Formats: sequence, structure tokens, C-alpha cells
Amino acid sequence: MNARVVVIGAGIGGLSAAIHLAARGYRVTVVEKLDRPGGKMGEWRADGFRWDTGPSVITMRHVYEGLFAAAGRDLRDYLDLVPLQPVTRYFWRDGAQIDAVTDEEAMAENIRRAFGPHEVDGYRRFMRYAKRLYDVVSGPFLYRQKPTLRDLVRLPVADVLKIDALRTMHQAIRAHFSDPHLVQLFDRFATYNGSSPYRAPATLNVIAYVEMAQGAWYPRGGIFQLARAWERLASELGVEVRYNSPAQEICIASGKAHGVRLTSGEVIRADAVVCNVDYTWARETLIPDAHRPRARGALEPSCSGFVLLLGVRGVHEPLAHHNIFFTRDYRREFDDIFVRRIAPRDPTLYVCITSKTDPDHAPPGCENWFVLVNAPYLSEAYDWRAGTERYAQHIKGLLVANLGCVLPLNDVRELVKVEHRLTPLDLQTTYGGHRGAIYGFSSNTRTAAFMRPANRDGKIGRLYFASGSAHPGGGVPLVTLSGIAAARCVEEDLR
Ligand SMILES: Cc1cc2nc3c(=O)[nH]c(=O)nc-3n(C[C@H](O)[C@H](O)[C@H](O)COP(=O)(O)OP(=O)(O)OC[C@H]3O[C@@H](n4cnc5c(N)ncnc54)[C@H](O)[C@@H]3O)c2cc1C
Repeated sequence: MNARVVVIGAGIGGLSAAIHLAARGYRVTVVEKLDRPGGKMGEWRADGFRWDTGPSVITMRHVYEGLFAAAGRDLRDYLDLVPLQPVTRYFWRDGAQIDAVTDEEAMAENIRRAFGPHEVDGYRRFMRYAKRLYDVVSGPFLYRQKPTLRDLVRLPVADVLKIDALRTMHQAIRAHFSDPHLVQLFDRFATYNGSSPYRAPATLNVIAYVEMAQGAWYPRGGIFQLARAWERLASELGVEVRYNSPAQEICIASGKAHGVRLTSGEVIRADAVVCNVDYTWARETLIPDAHRPRARGALEPSCSGFVLLLGVRGVHEPLAHHNIFFTRDYRREFDDIFVRRIAPRDPTLYVCITSKTDPDHAPPGCENWFVLVNAPYLSEAYDWRAGTERYAQHIKGLLVANLGCVLPLNDVRELVKVEHRLTPLDLQTTYGGHRGAIYGFSSNTRTAAFMRPANRDGKIGRLYFASGSAHPGGGVPLVTLSGIAAARCVEEDLR
């Protein structure tokens, strides 16, 4: 009889592990506390509007194609991934504006027009540099098991230098661009895994290559369609997904995980347990005291986020599907988030409007705005219970002020028909995200990649981790890889 695996959590990491294992003949049960798949990738509807509540930018299409191909399927039969052009429209308060596009020549032309010909050479050099990073980093850091410092030492010296871990992202970007707008544009990619460009190693400039050269996609119908596609494939492969089934404890005996106890009292026995729940949360709530691994105190949580879902009057032509309105003082924004740990006073605003691509996501003559600002992970420094109302009004005021350069708006009330908010507290309580962190741990130090939990637990046998808080990290493509890596560990051990 084939071995049985229980996966705790039907987030993208958990479902990816389940798909990979079921495709190899394992009997897989997924237990999920919510009533739907996708975890942080959710959706919300009200008054004829529809919003995604989590991810909005999907990169690294080849990762998902690989997951489906390994199960003998073609991703295109499950998901219509639309390439977005422009990928993002960037606005600055001094009136500067640029469309980021994936075609290098077209992007060079946009840079020349917006910031002058002298920046084009820096852009081309930067893209060559970021590609070199991708070529060197993607093998050891993304597509394989967690690297150790010893693995790093074994790399050829030339490759170690190419990893560029001694400078910060910001320092490396400044070495390529002189215009502050472009520095800020490329600095922003640090936020794709919840980090600060002023602290994260320059290695993370690889993210710019992934989006700017490989592209960004939008699943027609909304990002949540991706979770539905994973759920459909899992079910076709015979995975049993049990919603409204919170796990209470991972059962451990003789140093090995052998099942999961649900809050209902039911115990599901298994040969291996894959945990898709945030690592720290799982450590504190699911692993019995006697077996609890040591805390990863040295790893800082990633940033969190504050989201406004706004049903907005009007169809606003100057805006694209993805829009960024930059703060004047980026360094201060990251100091607010990671040093003072308060909701930033003057944050960069990200506005995603899926009704630009899917008009039925809003009633006629309206748009569905998903407004995200980066926020600190939960700490005593900021009280979201007391601060949310005031902060929501503040952000709406900033929206009107920022958009003033492209839209004739005076008052938030002219704009907003429907409003819903998600705070870091919601991220913690709904998904079990430690301190409301979006991406698990930040990459704010050179050693973060080596300290992040591995996919195979070091002490408890037959226990595996597949999530943004485990190797290789957060974001939809990386948690998909985390699921695949955890599943491969299960295969190796149960062989
Ligand atoms: C606002 C926001 C914006 C984002 N933007 C982007 C983006 O643009 N691009 C991108 O790539 N990524 C983005 N992300 C990050 C991305 O959503 C995550 O990295 C990814 O979805 C995490 O997947 P996961 O499988 O690790 O965990 P989760 O999605 O957190 O899934 C964990 C699952 O475990 C379940 N669970 C928890 N406790 C239990 C229990 N006791 N028993 C059973 N089940 C349990 C939870 O309900 C959840 O379903 C964003 C996230 C947020 C919140």
C-alpha cells in the first residue's frame, strides 16, 4: 500500500506539496482551517465588486508550468495567464512617470524619455548584472534544498563574487543609476519578499530580473483562480482536501511525526506530515512542548501590510492594472517599518485594479482598487486596534493627494463607494502568520537565506515544512518551490 501523507494547510505551498506527492502515487490528505484553498491568496466580494485580498503580481510562470508538467498536465488547461504590459505604472509626486515593460528595448526607450539618455546605459548594465545574479543564485538558492554556508564555500570564487552579498541592494542599484527615481524604482523589489533595500544583500536584485526580464502575469478571473486551479489539479490526482478542519497538534512518537490531531479530536495517521502553516506559528501552536524546536530569534519577520479594498466611482484612464505612487522619502518609510515599527506616515501606495483587465470585477462605470501599503510586523510599537480607523482615513487622504497629479479629485467621498480593510492583525489571525508577516522571514541580513528553516525538520523525523517561512522563502513562486522541495524530501525519506 502507498504511503500516506497529511498536509496541514491548503495555502499554495501546501497544495503544491500535495500535488507533487499525489502525482507520485502517495495518498495525500490536506487539512485546512478555512473553508477555501489559497491561504493568503483569497478573494472578497461586495456590492458588485470583486477583489483579490493577497498576492497581485505573479512572476516565474515556468515554476507553475513545471509543477503541472510533473503531474502530466498542461497549466494552460487550468489557468489563463495574461502577460501584463505595462507590468507597472510608476508615479512620483514631482510629476515624473514611467511605464515598466519587459521588452528591454522598449524599457530603455521609456527610461530615455522619462529620465534622459545617460540612464539607459546604467539600465542595460543593471539588467546584465541582475541576469548574472539569477544564473548563479537560482540553482543553489531556489531550485534545490536549502544551501549551507559550506555549499557557498564550495562554489567557484568567481560565482561567490557574482552573488554580491557584501553590498546592500540599494548600494548596488546606486552604482548603476544616478537618477533618484530609477534608484527608487529598483529599490522597491526588496519589498517583494518583505525586506528593506537599505539592509537586504544586493543578491536580491535578482528579483528585478525575474519581473523586468521574465515578466509578470495575471490569471484571468483574478489571482484567486490560481488557488482554484491548484485545488482542481489536487482533486483530480485524488488528494482529499478537508476544509473547516483546523489541526490542533502534530502527533510525534519516538522522534517521528506520525499524524495530525484535529481540533475535533480526530487523529489522522500518516507516514509523514507536511506543515504549510507559518513555521513560527506551527512551532508555538502545533508542535508539542517536549519536541519544540529552538526559536529562530535571529531571523526577523518580514514586513506586513495594510490593505484597503475600495470600490471606486469612475473609470480612471491614467491608471494601469498595477500602479505605484512613490513616497518622497523612501528611507524614512523603511525606518518607520523596520526601526520604529510604526505604520509609515507617508508610505508608497500600491494600487492594483483588476477591473482594468477583467471589467466584470466592478459595476459599470466603477473600478475595484486594491490599495496596499507596507506595514511593520506586529509589535508593541503600534496598536492596530486603536490605529486602524485613523490610518485608513490618512491613507485615503494620501491617495487623493497622490492621484491629484493625474486625476481631478478633491475629496475621498467623491471616490469611494465601498470599503473593506485588512490589517496585520487580520493576517495573523486569519492565516496563522507570525506577527502578521506577509512573507515569513525578511532577508534583511546576509545570512537570512542560510538561517531560514529547511524543508525537512532537523530533529523530528518525517516532519517537513512547505511555506513562505521555510526555504526558499515567500511569494507565490517561491512557496510553490517550497512545496515541491518539501515533497522531494518526503520522497527521499519514504523511498
Ligand atoms: C496583502 C498581500 C499581498 C501579497 N502580494 C504578493 C504578490 O504580489 N506576489 C507574490 O508572489 N506574493 C504576494 N504575497 C505573498 C503570498 O501571498 C504568500 O507568500 C503565499 O501565498 C504564502 O503561501 P503559503 O502557502 O506559504 O502560506 P499561507 O497562504 O499562509 O497558507 C497557510 C495555510 O495554512 C492554514 N492554516 C493555518 N493554521 C492552520 C491549522 N492549525 N490547521 C489547518 N490549517 C491551518 C491557513 O488557513 C492557510 O490556508 C502577498 C501576500 C499578502 C497577504
